[in-house]
Amino acid sequence: MTKQLPKVDVVLVGFGWTGAIYAEKLTAAGMEVLALERGPWRDTPKDFATTFAQDELRYYWRHGMFQEASQSTVTFRNNGAQTALPMRHWGSFLPGNGVGGSGVHWNGQTYRFLPSDFVAKSHNEERYGPLPEGMTVQDYGVTYEELEPHFDYFEKICGICGTAGNLRGDIREGGNPFEGPRSDDYPNPPMQMTFSQDRFEASARELGLNPFPVPSANMSRAYVNPLGMQLAPCTYCGFCEKHGCGNYSKSSPQTTIIPVLMKRENFTLRTDSEVLSVEKSPDGTRTTGVTYVDTSGEEFFQPAEVVVLCAYPLENARLMLLSDIGTSYDPQTGEGVVGKNYCYQVMSGATVFYDEEYTNGFVGAGALGMAVDEYNGDNFDHSGLGFIGGGYIACYTTNARPIESHPVPDGVPGWGSEWKQSVRANFLKTTTVGVHGASMAHRSNYLDLDPTYTDRHGRPLLRMTYDFTLNDRRLTAHITPVAEEIARGMGGREVNVAERKGSYDSMPYQTTHNTGGTIMGTDPKTSVCNRYCQSWDLHNLFVAGAGLFPQNAGYNPTGTVAALAYWSVAAIIEQYMADPGPLVQA
Ligand SMILES: Cc1cc2nc3c(=O)[nH]c(=O)nc-3n(C[C@H](O)[C@H](O)[C@H](O)COP(=O)(O)OP(=O)(O)OC[C@H]3O[C@@H](n4cnc5c(N)ncnc54)[C@H](O)[C@@H]3O)c2cc1C
Ligand code: SF4
Repeated sequence: MTKQLPKVDVVLVGFGWTGAIYAEKLTAAGMEVLALERGPWRDTPKDFATTFAQDELRYYWRHGMFQEASQSTVTFRNNGAQTALPMRHWGSFLPGNGVGGSGVHWNGQTYRFLPSDFVAKSHNEERYGPLPEGMTVQDYGVTYEELEPHFDYFEKICGICGTAGNLRGDIREGGNPFEGPRSDDYPNPPMQMTFSQDRFEASARELGLNPFPVPSANMSRAYVNPLGMQLAPCTYCGFCEKHGCGNYSKSSPQTTIIPVLMKRENFTLRTDSEVLSVEKSPDGTRTTGVTYVDTSGEEFFQPAEVVVLCAYPLENARLMLLSDIGTSYDPQTGEGVVGKNYCYQVMSGATVFYDEEYTNGFVGAGALGMAVDEYNGDNFDHSGLGFIGGGYIACYTTNARPIESHPVPDGVPGWGSEWKQSVRANFLKTTTVGVHGASMAHRSNYLDLDPTYTDRHGRPLLRMTYDFTLNDRRLTAHITPVAEEIARGMGGREVNVAERKGSYDSMPYQTTHNTGGTIMGTDPKTSVCNRYCQSWDLHNLFVAGAGLFPQNAGYNPTGTVAALAYWSVAAIIEQYMADPGPLVQA
């Protein structure tokens, strides 16, 4: 029997980056907030102390902090003619589990999307004419200018390290000249670059490009954020990605928000509590709360005035589908919205091998890099190219973790003594120039419920139908040669190019930048949420995360995810609570 619990003002489903952001602002405004997190409590000293944070086997290979695929996973196929099969071991992306979510094991590359990314449909149609058949790109319904104060606040919460490129319209030397106008500089200076970034910078400048330091959530110096949280200078240990930082040097929910929140009496966190469904009122206009299960198998109904889905894009979409909220997207008719416009990222790169010089990749950090933005978004003229969007090109030194990193040139066998010799010769002498490409929405890429496979509770798994589109292929074919040209100018012995060809493969890790499925927009017929991230169907249901993106831009998502969360929570506090109801009339 389901146990009925006392009502709270707001229940948050999931307690990662967006859960922490909503909780901090809502409790500061005096609301009683409960966060339900399916995974365990996680904190620095207990879960990723410096003495064992670098345990590659435990954290990366055995997926110590990720969603357990044996409990719930995603089924995958490239197109509707195939039968989707469950991903029994994560590969291409790594959803988080536990307090802090993926914010614990992210890299910290903290970009803002371009102003034109938020109006991708109208902007591109105005400049290049109608979008091609099948491309379902849309505007967000919110602009960069509206989000700017929220980008700025998140950068201050995280202590982002970087160089401003556009300070209130003033284009600054050394920053990204293409970025939207920012109201303030980054709170901290950029990180110390290494040999690889210096070579990248020189080569890019030689080609007439404008390299800039990647905005980093790995601290270049000690920092105290607006909530009084202290962060320590990064030691460049190279164990950011897929690991927690034992040194309090990477901004995460744990290091920037959660300790402040845990002291507030109007905040409660319940861990090991997996939300199964969002419940609706009999007239179907409101949510009444959520049903969740704890690790003993006991079921609870948690009533709430407002529910916010903060469970990462894949689970947010699944919960809406399982709870029958909104209409499921149908790729045949193009109708329905939940699951629509699933997008990803198109990655490629060029690896430089040196003979004499040491790149020392083990001296690294998750967001240690230099980038150029000339080929991103609509920063270049796409006339006649047959695609829209782009990507940044960057040289990162994130790590040379011993189990994961074994760079060898093309032609070397994949095992045996020749391979070992080559790993020894090249381990300290390689670097990569990567392209972080956008992914434009297409009618055939979507999420829905799998008809066959279920999770441990017997509920359908989420089914992902996804492949790279013609736009993706043309985009990567256009930009990868630029990355190669920069790489060739970096003075190495040889350059190997990894193009992105063929179909999307769910096995090799690419990025955990899954987007879409619960998209925002201006019309309930084509989007799940309005411009305030409020469900068009249930006015007291809000959705957070990159599932809101109508398509993915050529950047990492979390800066924009956070800005949208701060924008949405401000609307709840300033508008919704005073007059509960739809904030936008359909
Ligand atoms: C290896 C890696 C590297 C990354 N690097 C970068 C980077 O450099 N830059 C960048 O911008 N982004 C990066 N990301 C992405 C970034 O981590 C995410 O964008 C961000 O964490 C998303 O925040 P979120 O709140 O939507 O989800 P999360 O932070 O993942 O939080 C979701 C939480 O919801 C919980 N949950 C899920 N389902 C339920 C349920 N049914 N009931 C209760 N709880 C539930 C999960 O356990 C999880 O704790 C990276 C991600 C990974 C995995
Ligand atoms: S590289 Fe820096 S931020 Fe990353 S885990 Fe190591 S100390 Fe922490």
